[in-house]
Amino acid sequence: MSNVSPMEKWENTLSNVNHVIAVTSGKGGVGKSVTTSLIATHLNKRGYKVGILDCDLTGPSIAEIFGIDEKVYGTDEEIFPSKSPEGIKVVSINLMLPRKTDPVIWRGPILSNILKDFWEKVNWGNLDFLLLDLPPGTGDVPLTIYQHYPVDAVIVVSTPSRMASLAVKKAYEMAIRLNQNVIGEIENMSYYVCKTCGNKEYLFGQKEPIENLKEIEHIPFDSELGEKIDSGSIEDIYVMEYDKIVDFLKEKFNK
Ligand code: ADP
Repeated sequence: MSNVSPMEKWENTLSNVNHVIAVTSGKGGVGKSVTTSLIATHLNKRGYKVGILDCDLTGPSIAEIFGIDEKVYGTDEEIFPSKSPEGIKVVSINLMLPRKTDPVIWRGPILSNILKDFWEKVNWGNLDFLLLDLPPGTGDVPLTIYQHYPVDAVIVVSTPSRMASLAVKKAYEMAIRLNQNVIGEIENMSYYVCKTCGNKEYLFGQKEPIENLKEIEHIPFDSELGEKIDSGSIEDIYVMEYDKIVDFLKEKFNK
């Protein structure tokens, strides 16, 4: 694929969103949704107004991560986000389906219409940051988003395994070819700190950095973090590295 020309950007006249950041990964299971969510919680703790749009239409997990059950409220013209206990606004297809186990079995053109509504019809109010949790890979959904959403920056999430790093390069290349501003990579589950001896163990080895891509932070594997996330209480978690990511974004966007 050569570089793809820019296309018409969709507009949202209902909200005032300052910065749109897309979070992508080459493959599933690297912790992209957790990373998106922890960036959001740490921004929120620092007083920024934050929203998350769960763009993973076939494998949504943001509502689960935040333990949100309250459905998104909507009319034909407008969609009002649900809120996490700490006030992060969330829109996810899982908050619209009759049952959260209902599968989404739609082809590309329908997904594209949903993404259009997800951009144009959501009333976010005022937001400092809107995070887009993209589905893994380089398919229709990230393509549509890069072409039609006014994305200000892209963050790539990886793990150090060889399979994940091959896939992450594809996700990175896709964003670059679609003229996106890729501001850096967050490497998740990079290492494990032994609870008895304090040594850093590199569970999956250490991967080569991607040329020209800034490594923003390396996040440790933490079994307690995994448990808290899986029980829907992510907002109780503080991770020092995510505070540094907030500092990085603050500087990047002059906030
Ligand atoms: P993806 O969005 O890339 O498919 P998820 O964000 O859903 O991946 O994370 C996959 C699993 O890994 C979840 O069960 C999550 O709790 C766990 N996980 C993610 N990051 C960490 C971490 N740093 N330490 C421990 N477990 C993690």
